[in-house]
Amino acid sequence: MPQSTSSPEQLDAVIVGAGFAGMYMLHRLRGLGFSARVFEAGDGVGGTWYWNRYPGARCDIESMEYSFSFDPTLEQQWSWSQRYAPQAEILTYANHIADRYQLRDGIQFKTRVTSAVFDEAAGRWAVATDQGDQISARHCIMATGCLSVPKLPEVPGVDSFAGPTYHTGYWPHEGVDFSGMRVGIIGTGSSAIQSIPHIAEQAAHLTVFQRTPNFSIPAQNLTMTREYEQEIKDRFPEFRAQARDSGFGLASPANELAAVDATEEQRQREYQERWDQGGLGFLLSFSDIIYDVNANATAANFVRGKIHEVVKDPKVAEILSPKDYPIGTKRLCVDSGYYETFNRDNVALVDLRATPIEAITPEGLRTSDASYAFDCIVFATGFDAMTGALNKIDIRGRDGLALKEKWAGGPRTYLGLQVAGFPNLYTITGPGSPSVLSNMMVSIEQHVDWIADCMTYLREHETPTIEATVAAEDDWVAHVNDVGEGTLFPLANSWYVGANVPGKPRVFTPYIGGFNVYAEKCRDVAAKGYEGFALGAAVR
Ligand code: FAD
Ligand code: NAP
Repeated sequence: MPQSTSSPEQLDAVIVGAGFAGMYMLHRLRGLGFSARVFEAGDGVGGTWYWNRYPGARCDIESMEYSFSFDPTLEQQWSWSQRYAPQAEILTYANHIADRYQLRDGIQFKTRVTSAVFDEAAGRWAVATDQGDQISARHCIMATGCLSVPKLPEVPGVDSFAGPTYHTGYWPHEGVDFSGMRVGIIGTGSSAIQSIPHIAEQAAHLTVFQRTPNFSIPAQNLTMTREYEQEIKDRFPEFRAQARDSGFGLASPANELAAVDATEEQRQREYQERWDQGGLGFLLSFSDIIYDVNANATAANFVRGKIHEVVKDPKVAEILSPKDYPIGTKRLCVDSGYYETFNRDNVALVDLRATPIEAITPEGLRTSDASYAFDCIVFATGFDAMTGALNKIDIRGRDGLALKEKWAGGPRTYLGLQVAGFPNLYTITGPGSPSVLSNMMVSIEQHVDWIADCMTYLREHETPTIEATVAAEDDWVAHVNDVGEGTLFPLANSWYVGANVPGKPRVFTPYIGGFNVYAEKCRDVAAKGYEGFALGAAVR
């Protein structure tokens, strides 16, 4: 619904993005009597689960946990079909949320927010879209997602391939039939690891181009049994509380024993049990895996051993075995039959470390030692993560300062919720919050609730603006960096540090201090009258 009014529409809040974050934010604000509108670039809700429709896409947090907890009736009534829900089912859930809480009339689809400029005199945000909308909003809430800007590889000729190309993060809604095709896939991150077994089953031949091998743990996915579902449903309050009281927003318990204090037999038993259980819980095997190189090596060795057990060709197994970064410091992958796929006759692995890509050509792809012909190419090459979607919008705060300029040396936030110089602008799961290092549903609910409470407080106290102070922001950035440096995360060239985007400043962006610790800090800040924030109209 494009609009071209001369005086902009006045709203309490603009929300950008209709994934789980934007939808829940709209629901909360409406319930509190605020006027709000969501703008969404896609033509449906669901965000990640709307865009990432590649074969095999599914959650790697258990379905019972990767769901909203804010409505006890919803969580009792909804049923998941599998331990790890597939993309289509999560998208159905997202649509159910939109319908159940009657959110659709508050969401303007196919509309991209292009700019958000703070008008200091009015203390309001002037928000503009690519459809010509002009909105004046007291609050501007970015629910734009941490992994919502797909990235193509920086390879000469990337646009020159004559056949179809597909990015996993921008997959055709009608699906892709790979039957009889020669397919090339670039990338071996989570998206590739989920899609490769499915593409291999369909295609005549699949060539996997790997630059960095990843550690992957089997999902051990299962059909949801009604007994298990009911067992969780009977104790949902306690189950959700366990997740919120944990470091990663997960209900499953972490082992408090350090790997370096365990015997070799204890370690092998624990790793084997976690491997058999499947999923990300593998990293909770011991308390020191992401802190201590020696501890980490024991976990990494275990997984490398498994790769060699599964993959029949020892040379292929060796190429698939990560060696130059600690396990967990690039996002751990969770798969269904990934390593087994390399035993198929119609699958080949190309080690780009040995033979780098030189160019994509009209016929396919050329490496330093061979040319490959394909009928189609899949880019599983990831995202401009954490800051990508925010930096794509022309966001300007006080004195016309562009957010992109302020963040030229890396993102700076207070609590990953606000940025000094940008009053009443909020980021849901923003840089400097636990975000991608947690169960995102838990983090989304916590951020949305905090923002909703904050806006209510401002209204009750007749306070038009809230803005992070420079001092609080500096302290928080220093703390996020300190905590990050106390772990092994900085050792890997991951998207957590922006290493996948040339020119991006190398900063460990999420907060690894623990979801529970972080949420407590946010509660404390609010309880102290929004400590570290300046309240009022004319704060500089
Ligand atoms: P998103 O779902 O990314 O939604 C953001 C929305 O904002 C998008 O629809 C986008 O179109 C819109 N948008 C962005 N910029 C603009 C703009 N300028 N104007 C208008 N609209 C805009 N997390 C987990 O915890 N567990 C998992 O198992 C898991 N699996 C994942 C699998 C994949 C393939 C990917 C990519 C991510 C996964 N994640 C997972 C992370 C996932 O992104 C979050 O769990 C969650 O879905 C994020 O919700 P969101 O609403 O914050 O953002
Ligand atoms: P990713 O983890 O960033 O992986 C991108 C892959 O592409 C990497 O293997 C990367 O290699 C490779 N690549 C990029 N540019 C390249 C180039 N120029 N040449 C050769 N290779 C190149 O992206 P993703 O797989 O889409 O996953 C992103 C995140 O989304 C995940 O980490 C996870 O948080 C989430 N996700 C979750 C699931 C799930 O299981 N639920 C599924 C998908 C995604 P390098 O490593 O060498 O850079």
